[in-house]
Amino acid sequence: MTLDVNTLFVVTIYIEAILGLLMLFAWVQDTAITAVAWWGFAHLLRAVSIMLFGMYGAAPQLVTIDLANALLFTSFATTWTGARVFDGRPVEPVYLVGGAVIWLLICRLPVIIDFAELRALAAAAIITAYAWLTAFEFWRGRSEPLLSRWPAIFMLFAYGALFLLRLPLAAMPPWARIAGDLSRSVWLTAISFQAVLLTISVAFILLAMAKGRTELRHRTAAMMDPLTGIANRRSFLHEAGLLAKRHSVDPRPTAVLLIDLDHFKSINDRFGHAVGDRVLEIFAASARAALRPGDLIGRLGGEEFAAVLADVSRDKALVAAERIRQSFAEAAQCVDDRPIGATVSIGLAYCESRSLDVADLLAEADQALYHAKERGRNRVEVATLSRAIPHRDPVPVAGIARPAA
Ligand code: GH3
Ligand code: MG
Ligand code: MG
Repeated sequence: MTLDVNTLFVVTIYIEAILGLLMLFAWVQDTAITAVAWWGFAHLLRAVSIMLFGMYGAAPQLVTIDLANALLFTSFATTWTGARVFDGRPVEPVYLVGGAVIWLLICRLPVIIDFAELRALAAAAIITAYAWLTAFEFWRGRSEPLLSRWPAIFMLFAYGALFLLRLPLAAMPPWARIAGDLSRSVWLTAISFQAVLLTISVAFILLAMAKGRTELRHRTAAMMDPLTGIANRRSFLHEAGLLAKRHSVDPRPTAVLLIDLDHFKSINDRFGHAVGDRVLEIFAASARAALRPGDLIGRLGGEEFAAVLADVSRDKALVAAERIRQSFAEAAQCVDDRPIGATVSIGLAYCESRSLDVADLLAEADQALYHAKERGRNRVEVATLSRAIPHRDPVPVAGIARPAA
């Protein structure tokens, strides 16, 4: 493979500039993800720095070496900062200029001034550090279900490793190089070519991450109740439907809770709608904390909530419902220094049959909830079993004793 270094320079400048403009264009279209602007700006910085490298001989070394390298490192730091911003971490100006400052300082060391190869190694080490820090940043945010995160981590790691290849290159005997000069080595050309290809790949994967994030946000917004942050009615019923499907294959005793805040209208009337909203938030948070991580909870509308507890005994379901009731009563005793004393009533329906009809169970829980309201509120009532085990299920579930009706 023969690659003309000058051509590679021009192609690299062109590619970096195009990628930068493309990213800024993508950001203008959806400004919600600021990281894309950081990444676009990083590419433009890189284009400028490579242009300055290309002016070697025609301009003072302060520009073609010092400034060009300082800009190059700042561009990689900008990509890293973009990754931090992408995952909600703060911009650190020290991180942005750190690489450039370190490089300018070590270039003043006499041992480095005399050896161009050592300078090249220091430069490669700084770029590797920035690429790996960017990969690490994405790895830290891995709990977000964003598939493109993983190829991004891999490619940034490969990018950093590619620059580290310059280390053995510096130790290479002169006969293995084209003209005994590191900068002319065919290997260096090949590495630079690879770096351009990886730059393009990384840019595409970063854009894919931004797009994936936008889609994830839209999907989450469509499924989440904006006030309380838990599932909305649609999402809750959808998840409950999926659970019912799983139940038909692998039946497990399941409880459905229907929960309604007591005298909520009066809370709104006495303390204002904003305090009412705050009470709803407190309920969602305390109920979420009182349930197991795998339990479903959702806001069906207004001040009415529902939960599905799969694979739970009748006693444990009752204990969970009591825990929700009690923890909310404690949490809502006093809200923003006001004596609110909010409580909930809960209707519980239990299903041990092979088929699980969430709508049926919600209707049973509604009956129980009605009784809880009737019997004074701030209590849990369990649906009577007359409807709890429908006649369509003649097969008892192995290992689960059927309670007498
Ligand atoms: P009960 O104990 O019988 O359930 O009485 P209640 O007052 O809780 O029931 P009712 O259905 O009469 O009132 C429900 C109130 O919930 C009326 C409505 O204004 C209020 N509400 C519904 N959605 C919201 C909301 O998002 N925020 C606030 N602050 N209030 C809401
Ligand atoms: Mg109510
Ligand atoms: Mg209600």
